[in-house]
Amino acid sequence: MPSVGSRNEIFEKFEVNAAMPYWWENTGELILPPGRDLPEDVDVLIVGAGLTGLSAARTLAKAGKQVITLDSGIPGIGASSRNGGMIGGGHRFSINQMQGRYGADMALSVLREAHLDSHSFAMSLMAEEAIECDYSESGRFRALWRSQEYEPVARELESLQKLIPVEAEMLPKNRQHEEVATDIYHGGVVYPRHGGLNPAKWVTGIMQAAIRAGAQIQGNTPVEHIARKRNHWEIKTPRGSINAVSILVATNGYTPSHLNDIKRRLIPVPSYLVATEAIGAEQVRKLFPNQRMIVESRDRHCYYRPSPDGSRIVFGGRAATCAIPFSLAQHQLRGLIEQIFPELKGIGFTHCWTGNTGFTFEFLPNIGQMDGIWHVVGYSGSGNQMAPYLGHKAALQLLGEPEGETAFSKTEFSTRWWHQGTPWFLPFSDLIYRFKDGWNNIRRNV
Ligand SMILES: Cc1cc2nc3c(=O)[nH]c(=O)nc-3n(C[C@H](O)[C@H](O)[C@H](O)COP(=O)(O)OP(=O)(O)OC[C@H]3O[C@@H](n4cnc5c(N)ncnc54)[C@H](O)[C@@H]3O)c2cc1C
Repeated sequence: MPSVGSRNEIFEKFEVNAAMPYWWENTGELILPPGRDLPEDVDVLIVGAGLTGLSAARTLAKAGKQVITLDSGIPGIGASSRNGGMIGGGHRFSINQMQGRYGADMALSVLREAHLDSHSFAMSLMAEEAIECDYSESGRFRALWRSQEYEPVARELESLQKLIPVEAEMLPKNRQHEEVATDIYHGGVVYPRHGGLNPAKWVTGIMQAAIRAGAQIQGNTPVEHIARKRNHWEIKTPRGSINAVSILVATNGYTPSHLNDIKRRLIPVPSYLVATEAIGAEQVRKLFPNQRMIVESRDRHCYYRPSPDGSRIVFGGRAATCAIPFSLAQHQLRGLIEQIFPELKGIGFTHCWTGNTGFTFEFLPNIGQMDGIWHVVGYSGSGNQMAPYLGHKAALQLLGEPEGETAFSKTEFSTRWWHQGTPWFLPFSDLIYRFKDGWNNIRRNV
C-alpha cells in the first residue's frame, strides 16, 4: 500500500509553500497522523478532515462505531486551519426573512442553534477535550458601513433578543473608538460572547480528540471514486479501497468533481488573508482597545483582529470572489487596511494566503442525504462554531439518535441550471459585488 508521504510533500502538492497561512508557521502547525494500512471494512467513512469531518468522527467513535476520516492533504488543510479564527454565532438573514421563508418555528430553531446551541457545543468540546487553541472570549464588534444601517440593525437586535437570549448591545458612532480606532464606521453591535482562536490549533485539537476516541484519521488519501454495492459502499483511494456501510461527505468548499451532486449545490468562494508584520502590543491595543474581533457590514466585508499574541493584525477580506494572484490580493487588502487605519500606511505583510468557503444558494448550511450518501456542508463563510456542531449532529443522525435533530436538516440545498459544478460565474459575481460596494460607498456619503 503506498505510504501516506510527508508533510513537505503534501505542502508541495497543495502549493502552500508560496502562501503559508500565518497559523501554520507560527503556532499550532498541522499534524499529519502516522500512515497506517487502510482497513478493509468500516461502519462509516468520512470524506474530508476539517472541523466538520473530525467532529463527526469523534462522535461516531465515542458511540463505538468503526470510523475512518480521509483527507486529500493534511487533516485541517482546507478552510478549517486557514480561516480568520473568529468564533461566534450568527446567520445572514433578518428574522423577517427567515420567518417568511421557513415559518416562525423553524426560524426560531435556526436562530437558537446558530447563536446558542452551536456556541454551547463548541465551548464544551473545547473544555471536555482540553483543546488549547489560544481561545479568548474577546468579543466581536460588527461595524456598520452606512449610517442608515444603525436604526434597522438596532431594531433587528431588539427583535432577536425578544426571541432568544443573545448577549449583544448597540454601540453608537460617538463611542466606536472604545472598540476600534477608526472613524470609518457608523457604530455597530458588540457581541461580548464571541471570541478568537487559532484555527489550526482548534482543528488539530478536534482531530486529536477523535483519535483518542478511537477514530482513524488518514491524510494524503483522497477519495477518488465511490461505488454502490449491494449493501455497502466501495470507496477507492490511491492507497487502496475500503468498504463502508455509510459515507459522510464533509468537503465543503473543496468538494471534488466526482461528488458533483453536492458540488453543484455549493459555491466555493475564496477569501484572502494577510498577517501584518509585528507592530507591537501597544500599537495593537491602541487600534483594538478591547482586543475585539471586527467584522464589517459592507458586502465584500473585511474581517480583522489582533493575533492571539497581540503583536500584529490578521486581516481578511474578499479581495475578490474568484481566484486572483497573491500580489493582487495583497494590494487590495493593503488598500483596505489603509482605508481603515491610515496610520498603517506602508505596513509590511509577513503572510498572505487564501482558502475556500462553501456557500449554498440559501446561505445556510445543510445536513442531508442524496442517493444514500450523507453530506454536511454549506457554512457560507462562517464555521468555527457551526462546523463542529453540525458534524456532531450529522453523526448523531447516522447513529439514529433523536438528539441528531436539527433545523439544518430542513434547510433547502438547491442548485441552479447554470451551476453544473465548475463555478465559471465567480468572476462575474465579483464584478456585481464591486458594483454594489461602489453604490454603497456613494450612498454612505449622502
Ligand atoms: C479564508 C477563510 C476565512 C474564514 N474565516 C472564518 C472565521 O473567522 N470564522 C469562522 O467561523 N469561519 C470562517 N471561515 C469558514 C470556516 O473556515 C469553514 O466554514 C469551516 O472551516 C468549514 O469546515 P469543513 O470541515 O466543513 O471544511 P474544510 O475545512 O474546508 O475541509 C474540507 C476538507 O475536505 C478535504 N477534501 C476535499 N476533497 C477530498 C477528497 N476527494 N478526499 C478526501 N478529502 C477531501 C479537503 O482537503 C479539506 O481538508 C473562513 C473560511 C475561509 C476560507
